[in-house]
Amino acid sequence: MSDCIFCKIANGEIPSATLYEDEEFRVLLDLGPASKGHALILPKTHAANIYELPDETAGKAMILAKKMAAKMTDALKCDGFNILQNNGEAAGQTVFHFHMHLIPRYANDGVGISWEPGTLTEEVKKEILEKM
Ligand code: 5GP
Ligand code: ZN
Repeated sequence: MSDCIFCKIANGEIPSATLYEDEEFRVLLDLGPASKGHALILPKTHAANIYELPDETAGKAMILAKKMAAKMTDALKCDGFNILQNNGEAAGQTVFHFHMHLIPRYANDGVGISWEPGTLTEEVKKEILEKM
């Protein structure tokens, strides 16, 4: 993907504040951080989203997220940690190269990752269970 900014960052064509790099991934600080230390895991090979991501890369990305969470929690002394990943505009994805957000959380940091809980009705539950 010659015009994909995350391809360029992941492969080092555009410099970034890199926390970790190996043959398949780069982990770098997000330019618009939700909290101190907010970082992104980028695979070096282009996939637009989780639907396009090869199984092997998906597995390795989660293992890397686990390692980064432990290392960043230790280094930054954060109190909690969110790992999240958006697919599609409706879900808040703005850069269409698969990435995972690593978001260190600090007590009372005011970062808003939340939703208003709804109610699971019997009708909707039945509908979904049938479809799946
Ligand atoms: P999304 O909304 O697609 O899940 O997340 C995109 C993320 O990429 C945002 O958190 C945004 O701040 C970050 N971002 C966008 N462009 C750049 C960039 O050029 N460099 C870095 N380091 N982060 C970026
Ligand atoms: Zn890309």
